[in-house]
Amino acid sequence: MASIFSHAIAAVAIGKTFPKAVTTAKVLILGALCAMLPDADVIAFSFGIPYEHALGHRGFTHSILFAVVLAFVLGHVFFKELRLGTSKWWLLVLFLFLSTVSHGLLDAMTTGGRGVGFFIPFDNARYFLPWRPIKVSPIGVSRFFSEWGMEVIKSEIVYVVLPCFIWIGLIRVFRSTKKVH
Ligand SMILES: [Zn+2]
Repeated sequence: MASIFSHAIAAVAIGKTFPKAVTTAKVLILGALCAMLPDADVIAFSFGIPYEHALGHRGFTHSILFAVVLAFVLGHVFFKELRLGTSKWWLLVLFLFLSTVSHGLLDAMTTGGRGVGFFIPFDNARYFLPWRPIKVSPIGVSRFFSEWGMEVIKSEIVYVVLPCFIWIGLIRVFRSTKKVH
């Protein structure tokens, strides 16, 4: 995994790309949670489920299907006030989907682990993207606060956090200039 903070920031950056009326603070927080949720699968290790199993780490919870299902379920449960099928509702579901799926994409850009099961349950193979600049994050808190952890934080700042902040900044500039003219 990349660390959960980077996943959350990526979701916020995606959210800021959407119209403000759609990605309210509540929606952004939900998107950030969606981006962190896939790593709940590390619990599989304590049940003896191996990494490469479909339900193992970077397995089903990192798949495209999981992201689709989660987005629809959350869209239905948390946004009852919005009418299903309206364009605002679809944008909201799209944002929640992209937030969740961004987790797997970032993981697929890390230097280690077994790759991401994007197509589980249809294909159990694990995949990486061709470009993998992000140092893989150690599993577990104690190992995170180590020299390895520092290297991870550095690479995540360069390849995830800074690009996200630059992106958010550019959107702000773009929107403010649009308002002026
Ligand atoms: Zn992950």
